Amino acid sequence: MAETRHTKVLIIGSGPAGYTAGVYASRAMLEPILVQGIEPGGQLTTTTEVENWPGDTEVQGPELMVRMEEHARAMGTEIISDIINDLDLSKRPFTAKGDSGTTYTCDAVILATGARAKWLGLPSEDKFKGFGVSACATCDGFFYRGQEIIVVGGGNTAVEEALFLTNFASKVTLVHRRDELRAEKILIDRLMKNEKIVPVWDHVLEEVVGEDNPLGVTGVKVKHVKTGEITEIPAKGVFVAIGHAPANELVKDVLETHMGGYVVTKPDSTETSIPGVFAAGDLTDHKYRQAVTSAGMGCMAALEAERFLAEHED
Ligand code: FAD
Ligand code: NAP
Repeated sequence: MAETRHTKVLIIGSGPAGYTAGVYASRAMLEPILVQGIEPGGQLTTTTEVENWPGDTEVQGPELMVRMEEHARAMGTEIISDIINDLDLSKRPFTAKGDSGTTYTCDAVILATGARAKWLGLPSEDKFKGFGVSACATCDGFFYRGQEIIVVGGGNTAVEEALFLTNFASKVTLVHRRDELRAEKILIDRLMKNEKIVPVWDHVLEEVVGEDNPLGVTGVKVKHVKTGEITEIPAKGVFVAIGHAPANELVKDVLETHMGGYVVTKPDSTETSIPGVFAAGDLTDHKYRQAVTSAGMGCMAALEAERFLAEHED
């Protein structure tokens, strides 16, 4: 049954930013409600080892996020499985509508909706999505045991996915549009030492090639960026790892954005252009996009929401 829930602080998103905001807002006795969204735990649930979360030399991404959820809940955050599909920031209390039918009203809101994988936008990519084309190696790598795989991209995600996929694949071809990777040195080092990985520099994916009955990938056509020469590479799986775009759908028409859709916040703050609306994590961060920086911003957002509410007690 449709119901309306009021909270002082509504947190939208359950990645490191959202859960950290939950911990801090709970400890400020604000009794926050956190709505998890379609991906409980956020982007780290799509990876394996995380080696740069302070205090853990190595931890599995999904395990870390379960721990963060438990921590937020133990501090007093009410965690709700729902997806916000509409957010009205025109007046306080703000109103958010969930797919469940629940309406949430709140005196302050913390936006922590993070980022989502980008796609190349090729018709053939779209055609084979879920049938050989994926953006999540941890989710789908297992299906390609003993097969040849293509990974597209040159950042941390592409390199990590290529390395991870060598656990299953007979060969991983990394297709990158330049001849230099932008990943961390330690990851590049591992990639170069891995005999199963073949980098193909200065190439872009031109087309995913496959069969219709049953629908499945048989290879890719790649184009040399300087000569225009097309080469066909056989593969059963194609993993697109070309970065992430901020998940700004709820606010892109009402809050200022920049650098491809990242929500603008005031310097050294998570305050947005609307008083009482705070934004944290990858949604606002075109620069660092790390779990630890997102968590840091979640902390800032909760502390700033606490101060805002104290100053605006009705
Ligand atoms: P996200 O983790 O993106 O979470 C966003 C949350 O918002 C999700 O829970 C989603 O369900 C929710 N949401 C979105 N829309 C709605 C809505 N409408 N209603 C309700 N909820 C919504 N960083 C590191 O520091 N170390 C690593 O080793 C590392 N590895 C990575 C590996 C991969 C494959 C990827 C993709 C990223 C990796 N990162 C790593 C980056 C890190 O995951 C992100 O910087 C971090 O998760 C961002 O946290 P966030 O809280 O801002 O958002
Ligand atoms: P990214 O750093 O933005 O890298 C995207 C890569 O894809 C770049 O190499 C880019 O090429 C390429 N690319 C972009 N658009 C393309 C297109 N249309 N066609 C072909 N290639 C394209 O993204 P990311 O690797 O997903 O990383 C996102 C953030 O998460 C980063 O801040 C990263 O540090 C973080 N992360 C961290 C870890 C870790 O700490 N271990 C792991 C994963 C992710 P160019 O290089 O030419 O621009």
